[in-house]
Amino acid sequence: MNIALIAHDKKKDDMITLSFAYQSILKSHTLFATGTTGQKIIDATGLRVRLFKSGPLGGDQQIGALVAANEMDLVVFLRDPLTAQPHEPDVSALLRLCDVHNIPLATNLATGEVLLRALGRGDLDWRNIVNPKAKTVSARPRRNPT
Ligand code: PGA
Repeated sequence: MNIALIAHDKKKDDMITLSFAYQSILKSHTLFATGTTGQKIIDATGLRVRLFKSGPLGGDQQIGALVAANEMDLVVFLRDPLTAQPHEPDVSALLRLCDVHNIPLATNLATGEVLLRALGRGDLDWRNIVNPKAKTVSARPRRNPT
């Protein structure tokens, strides 16, 4: 499945903890992330992650485009609700699109953990029916060289 991982700056440590703890599940899927979040996940786990632009530079919108095309199966967006974000309209748009298209979405660590456990159990396999992966998504694949 196609999974998007995004974290605001004060939540990046949580995202690294989450992706490290669940890398055995995540490695079986196609991972996408905004630039800074994705690079930190790569550095911490060695997981293969396709990187979009940094969130404030349009990465949230790039992921939103995949959600709108029904090509993203799960979004974990660890938001920082206590810090003003310059790209708040992009954040809101992405969350809205997840609701429009009924995409499983976690916005905090606790729910992220629940969704990744559900993913590992196969609870989200219905997404393979509504998203048959017919299309190719273009983003730069990266992997930690080590
Ligand atoms: P970043 O973007 O991963 O490039 O920091 C995340 C965001 O702020 O939306």
